[in-house]
Amino acid sequence: MNQAILLDNAKVIDGKGRAPFSAAVLIEGDQIAALGDEALRRVAHLQHALRIDLAGKTVMPGLIDAHCHLSFDDAASNPEIFYQRRNALSALVAAYNAKKLLRAGVTGILDPDSVFENMVDVRDAAEAGVIEAPRISCGCYALITAVGGTAGRLINDTGITGYYKSVQGKDEIMAEVRRQVKVGADWIKVHVSGVVPRYAHLGEQCSWTQEELNLICELAHDLGVPVMGHCRGSMSTYRAAKAGVDLIFHGTGMDEQALDIVIDKKIPICPTFTFQANMVDYGHRLGTDPALVTLFEREITDSTASMRRLVAAGVPLLTGSEAGFSMVPYGHWHYREMEVFMRYFGMSSLEAIHCATGAGAFALKMAGRTGVVAPGMKADLLVVDGDPSQNVGILGEPGRISQVFLDGKSVDLTPPRERKALAGWRMPSLGQQLTREFALSGISQNPPAQPEEL
Ligand SMILES: [Zn+2]
Repeated sequence: MNQAILLDNAKVIDGKGRAPFSAAVLIEGDQIAALGDEALRRVAHLQHALRIDLAGKTVMPGLIDAHCHLSFDDAASNPEIFYQRRNALSALVAAYNAKKLLRAGVTGILDPDSVFENMVDVRDAAEAGVIEAPRISCGCYALITAVGGTAGRLINDTGITGYYKSVQGKDEIMAEVRRQVKVGADWIKVHVSGVVPRYAHLGEQCSWTQEELNLICELAHDLGVPVMGHCRGSMSTYRAAKAGVDLIFHGTGMDEQALDIVIDKKIPICPTFTFQANMVDYGHRLGTDPALVTLFEREITDSTASMRRLVAAGVPLLTGSEAGFSMVPYGHWHYREMEVFMRYFGMSSLEAIHCATGAGAFALKMAGRTGVVAPGMKADLLVVDGDPSQNVGILGEPGRISQVFLDGKSVDLTPPRERKALAGWRMPSLGQQLTREFALSGISQNPPAQPEEL
């Protein structure tokens, strides 16, 4: 067993939504053994306990990012994920990126789908202590119909590409769900809605029948495995909820019927607005068209009333960053969804922190076992310089998270070694279009493409 550790004189945010309180926290082995006076009494009987004075600091649960793609490596496009990634190399790179998450205070992630479904191996390596990574709960390939998901006509009619498997008909659905359970999926991921380029003005549409979704849920649940659905638009959310999906990503564009069933079944929603919020606040830095920024903001504001209703009705909201894409690079924005919940859904900082910690444990299939500072919980903890309940944004400031404990062990927070470009890894690009006007303007914009990455 590790040496017992007493985190003394700290302010505690417990992850349940309660106001911060002063208490000592005693870690024994991989667990929080006691709080407050009980911790002090108990530590008096322990030999060799390490006492750390944390005056002016806050102890809180580690962040749980319920929507993070650790195998995508901050990809700039879907084609990059579909055609440039390699199996073993992407798993090794995922292990590298996992360190960035830990250093950003993330002690658990739900990775819905991965290239070569290699997150199963990354998870197993992490659990066995082969690599240093947050707790990982993962799906395998996202199940998709030929209609597709968010990649339009890039989605192949059959077979596996990138992070998805295109399944046709009952037999293929049954075979794939069973195969994924066998190889070790923690969750089954279904891309319930998809956007068809010709009909993009209709938004994402439900691409499965009710019977197909029922079948997936019945098969997975029979084997004790929960199902998560990517759902934009009311019909996809309604049908997924009716079929028994256990967790919904996005959940935007719900109508009354969809809201009623989600509220009735209390299905947790992970809206994942970090990307849109980044575009709203920082799109101008990337030269994004203001009209497009307005569209991104509308995606959030159009859902504000329904998200507020869900929260008021006791439906858990989970925080997800969709890290793995270049707009939300690993290690930078995992705290950001809390700001979205506060700004748009009217949550207090403590409610938002609860979403990112105590509530998030559900995504790890560890509800009631981590995400909360209480005796008997896994010691997945952060020591923060300052008080995140006053400003959750400090969790994104470099150096504010002075210590991270995972399973009761202190994590090495030295930055990972700087990496170099991998040959044939990024999507080749010749850069900006060279119009005559631009060529003669004297303006230089995007940095030139890196030849070794082409
Ligand atoms: Zn995603």
